[in-house]
Amino acid sequence: MTDAASPEPGHDCPLCPRLHDFIAAWREREPGWFNAPVPTFLPPEGEGSVRLLIVGLAPGLRGANRTGRPFTGDFAGDLLYGTLIAQGLARGEFKARPDDGLELVGTAITNAVRCVPPENKPVGAEIATCRTFLRPTIARFPNLRAILTLGSIAHQSTVRALGERVAALPFRHGGRQEAGGIALFSSYHCSRYNTNTGVLTQEMFVSVFKEIAAFLKNQTQAP
Ligand code: SF4
Repeated sequence: MTDAASPEPGHDCPLCPRLHDFIAAWREREPGWFNAPVPTFLPPEGEGSVRLLIVGLAPGLRGANRTGRPFTGDFAGDLLYGTLIAQGLARGEFKARPDDGLELVGTAITNAVRCVPPENKPVGAEIATCRTFLRPTIARFPNLRAILTLGSIAHQSTVRALGERVAALPFRHGGRQEAGGIALFSSYHCSRYNTNTGVLTQEMFVSVFKEIAAFLKNQTQAP
């Protein structure tokens, strides 16, 4: 049973019937896959160590929906985890498997929509409904300083989850805004489509993370 106050949906969360049915069909087709709402990826040091939360859009069908770990199993993870390791926000080696031993450092990763949507496209009602879990996910980290949203949908849902107006805090790649005492960074999503089409280059993505790493370092040094 799903606990609406919890940051993590139940394995059979029924709140979005279309997504629930889509997952049910894939459970039949690929019983060895994870095929459920994908939980937030946490560092081993626990919630109190998290200063950066990364919010993606939704699990990829053959990525997180298959493996059960955000951004694991498809192209988007190669760029994301490679960049996190380079900036000291993750350690180990990313091998695109949940048992690869990769650990986050002061960082957590979640999705605005926890269930895989058909064609990677959640509808507005599903995005709104899954804020039921995004809100308490943001609230669960007592030392959170920054959020990075990947793509405009994740950005807008995060802004709403923070109780702010989307029109007041518009999405912009490389943007940094203040929302409820948290620095809200935003980037184009690191999807294969965006990198193949040149919307997002590796340099652009790394640049966003360098800014975040510098911000967090500055926070640590502040009295
Ligand atoms: S997308 Fe979120 S709210 Fe909708 S069924 Fe999945 S876990 Fe539940």
